[in-house]
Amino acid sequence: MTVVERATRLSAVGSGLVLYPNGIKAADAANPDLGARIRAAGHVPGPGDARPLVAPDGTVLSADPIGGLADRFGAPQVSLLRYALQQALIATTGDAELITGASVDCHSDHGDHVSVELSTGDTIRADLLVGADGVNSRTRRRLFDDGAPVYRGYTSLRGRSSVPRCYPNGVTVAGDGIDLFVAPVGGGRVYWTAKVVAEQGDWPALDAGTALAALLRRIRDWHPPIVDMIRRTDRESGIVITDICDRDPIDDWARGRGVLIGDAAHPMSPAMGQGASMALEDAAELGALLNALPQDVPGALKDFCAVRAPRTAEIVLESRRKGGVDSKASRGADVRARAANEFTTEDERLAGLFGWRPRVWEGTR
Ligand SMILES: Cc1cc2nc3c(=O)[nH]c(=O)nc-3n(C[C@H](O)[C@H](O)[C@H](O)COP(=O)(O)OP(=O)(O)OC[C@H]3O[C@@H](n4cnc5c(N)ncnc54)[C@H](O)[C@@H]3O)c2cc1C
Repeated sequence: MTVVERATRLSAVGSGLVLYPNGIKAADAANPDLGARIRAAGHVPGPGDARPLVAPDGTVLSADPIGGLADRFGAPQVSLLRYALQQALIATTGDAELITGASVDCHSDHGDHVSVELSTGDTIRADLLVGADGVNSRTRRRLFDDGAPVYRGYTSLRGRSSVPRCYPNGVTVAGDGIDLFVAPVGGGRVYWTAKVVAEQGDWPALDAGTALAALLRRIRDWHPPIVDMIRRTDRESGIVITDICDRDPIDDWARGRGVLIGDAAHPMSPAMGQGASMALEDAAELGALLNALPQDVPGALKDFCAVRAPRTAEIVLESRRKGGVDSKASRGADVRARAANEFTTEDERLAGLFGWRPRVWEGTR
């Protein structure tokens, strides 16, 4: 297997993310060592830990019992730096070759193999091409040419800071036109994500310092420990600004010997924090299917899509529904109602989402 990554350097910059029990189980299924490394590299909540949802003035509205997930679903929630996840993936790719600083520019499907052209001028001959090239996937453009992802009305700023003393398990803040999510990543550090209602392109046009100053102006009346945490943001690891886009789900991401996974296949807004977990589920399922050595590769890729498309479509649409950041001034009762809805741990929806188990591919083509 050859992995081609266009980034020249895999550096320790960037923010963090949360992997939920389904994502951790997918990592375990792909390679138990990967799951172990992810747990070791990130923050795993203790059994009784909860993450509060607060109003901007710090009033606690509800608490998300994150520590109970492991017992209930067989794997914990883990929050970690993206770089740490990338390192865990690289350490567990076995004998795969990793080529960095080269982008996949083109590919041709010859029926019994694909040839993949790189920006370096090299060509790779392979059994299949897996396009895991993100929300603006060029592989998707070549396979489907179905236009650009759609902006969903808010942008995101992400950074790293130190753990606010009163929120050791992180915190979620439901503000006016701004929502903030903070989670520990180990070593006394947190990553934070602010979702801000905005016109497309406005925030990404700002440099990091200007964007951070603008965010601090918008939240200056918030609970002081939260403002202070944002003010202490680590400038060296950078502020990542991303306009939030998704796509309507499609039910087939395979053409011949080419297939998409992750955001290339089903980009979603981050409201449910499921994008990377879904990408890991895809990887675990596709890996298991290919390990069964199907004779009919294009047919097997269709089988893969038939399993994955309904599940991911549900998450794309649910994330879109939940995703909007409220821009109205009055929150109080609204937020409480929303919180009660979001944090109902007995919810069957959560069982369906976090209770995921990898499929055993029997009798593949
Ligand atoms: C604000 C925000 C918060 C989020 N929070 C969470 C969270 O808490 N939990 C969660 O699970 N998900 C979260 N997500 C979603 C998550 O980041 C994505 O779903 C996940 O990164 C998708 O992984 P991927 O590998 O498909 O794509 P990506 O992570 O985008 O990786 C694609 C890779 O392909 C490379 N590439 C692109 N084009 C080429 C090319 N032509 N040739 C070679 N290489 C190429 C890129 O350099 C990149 O390394 C969040 C997203 C946002 C925007």
